[in-house]
Amino acid sequence: MSIVIENGTVVTLGKSSEVFHNSSILIEDGRISRIATKGEKLGKDAKRIDATRKLVVPGFINAHTHLYSSFARGLTKAKPADDFVGVLKNLWWRLDSALTIEDCYYSALVALIESIRHGTTTLIDHHASPRAITGSLRAIERAVRETGLRACLCYELSDRDGEQIAQEGLHENEEFIRCCQKTNDNLVRALFGLHASFTLSDATLGTAAKIGRDLGAGFHVHVAEAASDEEYAQQHFGMRVVERLEKLNILGPQTIAAHCVHCNEKEMDILARTRTSVVHNPQSNGNNAVGIADIIAMQKRGVLVGLGTDAMTTNMLEELRVALWVQHLRQKNPSVGFMDVINALFLNNPAVAGRIFGVQMGELREGCVADIAILDYDPTTPLDGTNVFGHLLFGASQAAVDTTIANGKVLMENRVLAIDVDEERINAQARELAAKLWKKL
Ligand SMILES: [Zn+2]
Repeated sequence: MSIVIENGTVVTLGKSSEVFHNSSILIEDGRISRIATKGEKLGKDAKRIDATRKLVVPGFINAHTHLYSSFARGLTKAKPADDFVGVLKNLWWRLDSALTIEDCYYSALVALIESIRHGTTTLIDHHASPRAITGSLRAIERAVRETGLRACLCYELSDRDGEQIAQEGLHENEEFIRCCQKTNDNLVRALFGLHASFTLSDATLGTAAKIGRDLGAGFHVHVAEAASDEEYAQQHFGMRVVERLEKLNILGPQTIAAHCVHCNEKEMDILARTRTSVVHNPQSNGNNAVGIADIIAMQKRGVLVGLGTDAMTTNMLEELRVALWVQHLRQKNPSVGFMDVINALFLNNPAVAGRIFGVQMGELREGCVADIAILDYDPTTPLDGTNVFGHLLFGASQAAVDTTIANGKVLMENRVLAIDVDEERINAQARELAAKLWKKL
């Protein structure tokens, strides 16, 4: 089916971002096939979506998240922690150890529906459920396909629960990567998931590297999130985290290094040279009190830095704002970092995701995938190509998302879900499962 979005203010984004007022976009076969900026009527028989007084932007990309975290909302059972590893031990490792396959499916489903509501059309997920590993990625995939979004999945391999569970983690990654390669569509993709340097032995990392490389897959790993990850690597392996990952053949253009809060300049240079993507998660880093990544220095050194939420939100414009505030605080300068955070979300995330999904995304241009968010934003100050980023960060970030389209399919229209799911039933089931899960903690 073809769709025409008409009368909207189109913000193309991309390298030479432009703004076209009162313009139309024709979508055919999941792609943008025409953009008309001069009042030309497109697609005579197409379904029409009126975007009058609305902003039409590319769907947002969340480059690092954990869908399973949605069952932690309102959980009061975690003991206060003194540091980041304490947060993992008191909260996340207790929670993920109690997850069932059904929990994986429903926690993903609720977070994905919320993503649709915030115009987020692509997610790069990092999953953990050490007592329910086998089949967990297929369960999440089912949720992704039911919502129509684009997602890249992986299982976070770790030695923290012993050899047998590590084996199962290796196997789940391998199986799921093979399964995605067989399906070979641009909606669901896989990376090889690794928890973090400090919970992985050389032997396990080496095996993962071999399997991943043989399959041609990249890796998705937490890197130097807290200072303790670096301290552990130096104590046990005599080198920094990024040096260790390079030595064990984990880095490269297909690999995502999430966080990199404590990377030094030498590590930044390795990340740049290996073309490894870094994903910054400022809200999570603030919440865990681990520090603020120097994404300005990283980008200056040529590192591709994207933006994720680490499951703190599904709203990328909210994360964007926090990314800017924390750079101001870090550099004690209210005038730095603006284009660094803008580029992280609007240029670099499409590049990071484009490497994984093999399509042109994050831009409203002919030939790009039709992943689109329409925001209910009628600016009350002049808006054009010169100030659109200021509008997005300070203004449109406060607006509701009206319509979400992924791969040319309408997932929400006029704020009403257009997918074939019973949201009320899903929420009720999720609440029931979350209550059961909490009882186990
Ligand atoms: Zn994470």
